[in-house]
Amino acid sequence: MSMRLAPSMTADSQFFWDGVKQGQLLIQRCAACGALRHPPRPMCPHCHSLAWDTLESSGRGTVYSFVMPRHPQFPFFEDDYIVGLIELEEGTRLVSNLVDVAPEEARVGMAVVVRFDEFDDGVVLPVFTPRMQP
Ligand SMILES: [Zn+2]
Repeated sequence: MSMRLAPSMTADSQFFWDGVKQGQLLIQRCAACGALRHPPRPMCPHCHSLAWDTLESSGRGTVYSFVMPRHPQFPFFEDDYIVGLIELEEGTRLVSNLVDVAPEEARVGMAVVVRFDEFDDGVVLPVFTPRMQP
């Protein structure tokens, strides 16, 4: 594997990246009304509660949207790469990389599943790869 820029971490998103290191995709859940939210933030947008816990995602989802950045050239990525907005089956969406997919084969709505890639510099990132639909 290669190197990858470490994600920027805040007090709000620490739990998410700690989960990723353990091979878990955690979604923040309001402890008052149960609404899920991502990206992590302190307050529930529905009921304004500050109390929250987490739900472990199945890791399954679909591609909601995707782009192939071309310019400017970004270090760490030598070849074409796909940035996907993934809608998890729990309902929240997150930005990630779509891997093991030829650019011309990427489709909105394609079924994907999370995979945790560890890079040479110790960075662990969740990426999404195609999955067979049941
Ligand atoms: Zn709430």
